[in-house]
Amino acid sequence: MKKLITHIVFAVIMLNAIPVLAAGKLTEKEMAHAAKLRDAAKKSDLAYEILESLTTEVGPRMAGTPGDARAVAWAMDKFKTLKFDKVYKEPVTFTAWHRGTETAEILAPFPQPIMVTALGNSVGTGEEGIRGEIAHFNTFEDLQKAERGEVEGKIVFISYKMEKSRDGRTYGKAVISRSRGASEAGKKGAKAIIIRSIGTDHDRLPHTGNMNYLEGVPQIPAAAMSNPDADLMMNMLKRGSVEVGLTLTSRSGETYTSYNVIGEITGSKYPEEVVVIGGHLDSWDLGTGAVDDGAGVALTMAAAKLIADAGVRPKRTIRVILWGNEEQGLHGAKAYAAAHKDEMKQHITGAESDFGAGPIWSFDWTSSDENEPVVDQLATLLKPLGIKKGNPKSTSGPDLWPLRGLGMSTFSLRQDGTDYFDLHHTANDTLDKVNPKHLQQNLAAWAAFTFAVSSVEGNFGFGLTY
Ligand SMILES: [Zn+2]
Repeated sequence: MKKLITHIVFAVIMLNAIPVLAAGKLTEKEMAHAAKLRDAAKKSDLAYEILESLTTEVGPRMAGTPGDARAVAWAMDKFKTLKFDKVYKEPVTFTAWHRGTETAEILAPFPQPIMVTALGNSVGTGEEGIRGEIAHFNTFEDLQKAERGEVEGKIVFISYKMEKSRDGRTYGKAVISRSRGASEAGKKGAKAIIIRSIGTDHDRLPHTGNMNYLEGVPQIPAAAMSNPDADLMMNMLKRGSVEVGLTLTSRSGETYTSYNVIGEITGSKYPEEVVVIGGHLDSWDLGTGAVDDGAGVALTMAAAKLIADAGVRPKRTIRVILWGNEEQGLHGAKAYAAAHKDEMKQHITGAESDFGAGPIWSFDWTSSDENEPVVDQLATLLKPLGIKKGNPKSTSGPDLWPLRGLGMSTFSLRQDGTDYFDLHHTANDTLDKVNPKHLQQNLAAWAAFTFAVSSVEGNFGFGLTY
């Protein structure tokens, strides 16, 4: 009897000694460690150093170019130098597109050159170029409503100007002219399309970006002109008809295999379960891709590294994925989803940084009821950085869309994108545009967030829809 009582007393003492691991809550110790990580990251230059390395040693890295291959080698090497536990790459195959030369000029009534760039995936005009009268539309919808006779044999110009917004909500309405304009114009017999750049700046640099041809529609060359050139075009159109010449030698070429490059920090308790963070490794070719998406690459690599070095391993594995060929159609994201679709229940949650390098002001999530309380703990952790709790409708970043489609929970650390579309997809996307202090604020948020969601017991849910 005495022995039994001793056992019971011992068991009670043991129970008190073991912290209660309730799902959906970080322990006090974990909260304190996350706060410590946050405060240390706020003073860290690591993200900036990684970004400086990528933009200097690789620079432009458009998918399917030698820059792409150098970026893959750089990423493998950087993960290894940073002593990640596991470093590997997974193939991403697509058709390479080549830009070639790109020039345009107003031929009449007042001849002068205009600054243009080919849209990604566009066919060329041939070396000799094409010429034609402008058919002007204020919006994509106006082009949709147009009769064939208004467009046939002409070069379509859509003049819609994108407005600035902090959360990027104005992008969707603007970008449709880029993604679908060529098909709509081609359907109605246009020779080519030149849109006003999808951008909010006044620089004389055009913005590139991807476009696609609908099946069965004649494929016509597609370009974007700079904002000041679109204004010039409008002034000339007020005076009557305008004739333009356009030469693009862009073309789609060979099948190319790039890679998603992956670095992991192995979890201490549930190593087979992963939290996915990352950014996309490819960029457009005009700038050095500092804000799109070198910043996302650098921030997530640095956050995982700071966590690994801070002495307390999170329970789950942090999988940093540097996505291949995001820009030309989420090729890396789709390849990963196809390769890992049977392991989705081990994907606990994920987030991507792909909206530049502005300060984070809010965060969104998707979560089951079970881990909903950790959202409030995250809010507590992120509040000192000026980040507020958003809503349970995380948009996650484009490379996580396929995984979200397979049921994975996601978070969004939302950056201020007011100036993002000044630089987006232009030659101006360079390192000098990145504010190191903003990068530190981002890194602090990513370090605390990533440690928290990788450490909490329980699950953020699976197959959540909203
Ligand atoms: Zn991007």
